[in-house]
Amino acid sequence: MNTDITLNSLEHFCFCKYQWWLNYTQGEWLQNVHTVLGDIVHTKVDDPHFVEKRKGITTKRSVVVYNDSLGLYGIADLVEFINSDAPRINVVEYKKGKPQDNGEAQVYDGLQVYAQMRCLQSIYDCNIDGYIYYNSIRRRVKLKNLDFYENLLLDTLDEMRQYLASGNIPPKSITKSCRACSMYEICLPYLDRRRDA
Ligand code: SF4
Repeated sequence: MNTDITLNSLEHFCFCKYQWWLNYTQGEWLQNVHTVLGDIVHTKVDDPHFVEKRKGITTKRSVVVYNDSLGLYGIADLVEFINSDAPRINVVEYKKGKPQDNGEAQVYDGLQVYAQMRCLQSIYDCNIDGYIYYNSIRRRVKLKNLDFYENLLLDTLDEMRQYLASGNIPPKSITKSCRACSMYEICLPYLDRRRDA
């Protein structure tokens, strides 16, 4: 049986496996300016009681989604249910950052929304599109390359479960991104013998 994985922990694992391990298995979490800014962006959609109906589109915020066969569950920021001749669903993840220089979604943002799409696919029988709303450009970017994200999702879930089953501690991802990490004072990456940045 698959160990259940939350969409939230998938995001942490992609940022840094060691950060994920600290949070998921040790219960550690600290806030910093970046996590607070992320929380502020999410206040736009952080309302599980919100339902809006307009021109054939029903919009819900903070929607619980799950996929039993993938052992995956969590909250989708915003879901639009479109009642047309060909009913479909849009799922939208809110991010404070910006897309890649080529205009496409950042890979790990894409993975998060793809995981939400796979959850919704297990519940609803219709076409589902995924978008990332980047607050810095104030518009949505549609997710492409779905085959790539399918493989990335399966590989990532497999790797997470291997760490959980073995009890091994994943390596630190010591890069310039550490300066933006809220766990910096717990991790103390500058003291690590294996640091490469
Ligand atoms: S400080 Fe760097 S290595 Fe440590 S948890 Fe954060 S991102 Fe990972």
